[in-house]
Amino acid sequence: MTFRAPKGTDDILPPVSRTWRRLLLTWEDWAARYGYELVLTPLFEATEVFARGTGEGTEVVQKQMYTFEDKGGRSLTLRPEGTPSVVRAFLEAGADGILKAAYWGPMFRYERPQAGRRRQFYQIDVEYLGSREAAADAEVIELGYRYLIDASVPGLSVQINSIGDRECRPAYLEVLKEYLESRRDVLCDDSLLRLTTNPMRVLDCKICAPKLSDAPSPVDYLCDACTTHYGEVRSILRELGVPFEATPRLVRGLDYYERTAFEYVATDLKAAQNAVGGGGRYDGLAELLGGRPVPGVGFALGLDRIVLTLGDVEEPNPLDLYIIVTAGRRREALRFTSELRRSGIRADLDVESRSVKAQFRAADRRGAAGALVIGDEWSEGRVVAKDLASGHQEIIRIEEVEAWTRRL
Ligand SMILES: [Zn+2]
Ligand SMILES: [Zn+2]
Repeated sequence: MTFRAPKGTDDILPPVSRTWRRLLLTWEDWAARYGYELVLTPLFEATEVFARGTGEGTEVVQKQMYTFEDKGGRSLTLRPEGTPSVVRAFLEAGADGILKAAYWGPMFRYERPQAGRRRQFYQIDVEYLGSREAAADAEVIELGYRYLIDASVPGLSVQINSIGDRECRPAYLEVLKEYLESRRDVLCDDSLLRLTTNPMRVLDCKICAPKLSDAPSPVDYLCDACTTHYGEVRSILRELGVPFEATPRLVRGLDYYERTAFEYVATDLKAAQNAVGGGGRYDGLAELLGGRPVPGVGFALGLDRIVLTLGDVEEPNPLDLYIIVTAGRRREALRFTSELRRSGIRADLDVESRSVKAQFRAADRRGAAGALVIGDEWSEGRVVAKDLASGHQEIIRIEEVEAWTRRL
């Protein structure tokens, strides 16, 4: 067999996938604690949803979309990000009020593959739709922070900025363009192109940014409403005990962001791709999609990158009990294992009828806390129970197994 996974995609298998599972289980817990509900949308959308939502001027739309025509002649695109889809779904459902959406899944961008930059990559996302309040921005930023800390991302730093809104940004862009024109000689080819189409993105260019440290910052050109909003976001974050760094030159790669922009950076990660996530406010997005105004704020965290920051620690696949099956007791063992599983114990057994010795080795390999031998004692209502950490072995009654396991 000579097939391989397509370039820039990954098979995520054990033991690495154990880290992924832990990260996702932890995520579901945090999303629920903050009151976010599950929202699922299609993996593909009409191409226009991203062309208009994500923005014609973005690199994503210009260069990175997986766009195809279906058999009905429709132009469809595999989602390069989740936000336009959720806003589209909210508008389509005729919903109003607040929607706090949480989801995770694959996104698709045609990029030059490298570590932490994949063509099929995975994001954890939230969208807080229906509120312009700074408290919504702060809650979203806090949730991402608490989760990433719980996920053990090393050296986590929260960077925030305000990039203005439709009111005040035009004046800032004029000043920025003028500044960039005066620095044409240090700009790379990409940035020269963006100078007219999307000048803010020049500040985001890894090559140019270090040479532009005296560039004007959007925070110095905010209107009163944006200034107030940004001040409130910061003061609520302090109230909530979320450490952050005000980062005046932080901008985001997508057109629809306004006011709050933020990133989560793993400062210990030496790679260029050390941002593990980011987000911002997008009050104009619903209108770009042809809908009524719906304010919103959200984030996307890169699961692939989070895993990268955690390094090569091999996580166990936690097992409470390994059931050792002896000759003639297979049926009993299968039934008893099923009972244990239904009572909430993580139990596994060998269906290959291997030797008792081989099964004990498997129990060790699987990192089980204990092993039970279903043997001759079974007919008297007993099993041999072995604590695999201490090696202590005893014979206990079947009714005691659950309590014995919980003490391991
Ligand atoms: Zn550049
Ligand atoms: Zn403003």
